[in-house]
Amino acid sequence: MTLAELKKIMADNGCVGAGGAGFPSAVKLADGADTLVINAAECEPRLYSDLMVMKHHLDEVVCGAETVIEATGIRNGYLCIKEHTGHRLGLTDGQKLSEHVAVKYLPNVYPMGDEIILIYQALGRIVPPGQLPITVGVIVFNSETLYNVCHAARDSAPVTQKWITVGGKVPQPFVALVPVGTTVRELMEKYRFSVPEDCVMIDGGPAMGPIIDPNTAVITKTTKGLLILPRHIPAIQSKLVKNRTVMTHASANCCQCSMCTDMCPRALIGYPLKPHKIVRNSLAMIEQNPEAFTEASVCCGCGVCELTACCQGISPRRVYQQVKGILAKNKLRYQHKGELKVDPNRDYRLLPSDRFMQRIGVASFDTGVPEFVRDGWKPTVIELPLRQHIGAPAKALVNKGDTVTAGQLVAEADGVISANIHSSVNGTVTDVTVSKIIIAVQG
Ligand code: SF4
Ligand code: SF4
Repeated sequence: MTLAELKKIMADNGCVGAGGAGFPSAVKLADGADTLVINAAECEPRLYSDLMVMKHHLDEVVCGAETVIEATGIRNGYLCIKEHTGHRLGLTDGQKLSEHVAVKYLPNVYPMGDEIILIYQALGRIVPPGQLPITVGVIVFNSETLYNVCHAARDSAPVTQKWITVGGKVPQPFVALVPVGTTVRELMEKYRFSVPEDCVMIDGGPAMGPIIDPNTAVITKTTKGLLILPRHIPAIQSKLVKNRTVMTHASANCCQCSMCTDMCPRALIGYPLKPHKIVRNSLAMIEQNPEAFTEASVCCGCGVCELTACCQGISPRRVYQQVKGILAKNKLRYQHKGELKVDPNRDYRLLPSDRFMQRIGVASFDTGVPEFVRDGWKPTVIELPLRQHIGAPAKALVNKGDTVTAGQLVAEADGVISANIHSSVNGTVTDVTVSKIIIAVQG
């Protein structure tokens, strides 16, 4: 298969980064790569979706990887997993899984799923700040994305199902394969879990996932998990603070100890981030001179500075987030010049995942690896957001009253950075709005 053919297959079948980013997968494919990195680090605590994909469908993940390797002419592929994941799957470091794909163990530190950190850890290469992995000859795909690529290339099957973890403060954590567009409301009824008064629901991991409203949220192609977590734990408390409070607290209370910079995982590989400096500025100062703060765009939002390093309850991450908004408004991006130097103390400053879980308050939700549920259940209704990916929303191709079948294209990509969307069920379109398509499922 040629590169152009695979790009078309990925685009036609709506493949996007399933790890949470939602970047249209076809756009990542390019000539000039020599290595494929399969990101299965699953570094956010309490998520097990990638583990389950690999436990039950490792062949398809490897098939997706070999498909990419063949089309791009890449020489080597690495399934990058934590050592404990390797033990759970019975895979050893260096084990060959196919002609071109081998297992690579990663240390159990946070964050390891950030592709910039992953590429450095696995290959020793540093992606220049603001650039894509292809600049150092690497293509990165999440394991579930490659599972989807396999089905698209081998079976002409579009992306209509999603692997999600339901965990945290629930009677029994589990991983399920559910139709894209399932409402969280209906999922809660089916699997009998709820969000108690003293808890919130997180879309994704506890460190980086946003709080969502379970009454309106739906499962998209990028949903990795739903975690129910108490409001009082540090991971949640920091999310509940308002932006304005974050800024005033930062500039008033920072003691300039610089621990946030010393522990920042991207600063440790030479990225130009100095969180202890950004917190000294007010939003007004940044708005007056945004050109001086463009390095904010290379912060990955991992939250190490806020959740582990700072002893004053300050969030450099949230300050950087607000600066990113200002940069976007002014269409400013970081332009890197010069050499990147890895901090000689990096190895001693890596953050063990166990300690991270203790610090953010999720260690007590350790009930072991959850069960995998695959019961073929269908919801009564699905809601398909037209934007489940980075880029422009897809354009709806169906109208109210239309009958659709599972796998049918119902919204098409609007440009290169966009993605096709397919119905995950047989049913009837009951509404099409500017942001979503609603389908009543055929009984
Ligand atoms: S969130 Fe904080 S620790 Fe993480 S990359 Fe950004 S500045 Fe560094
Ligand atoms: S760790 Fe906290 S107190 Fe120390 S420099 Fe960073 S923001 Fe300021």
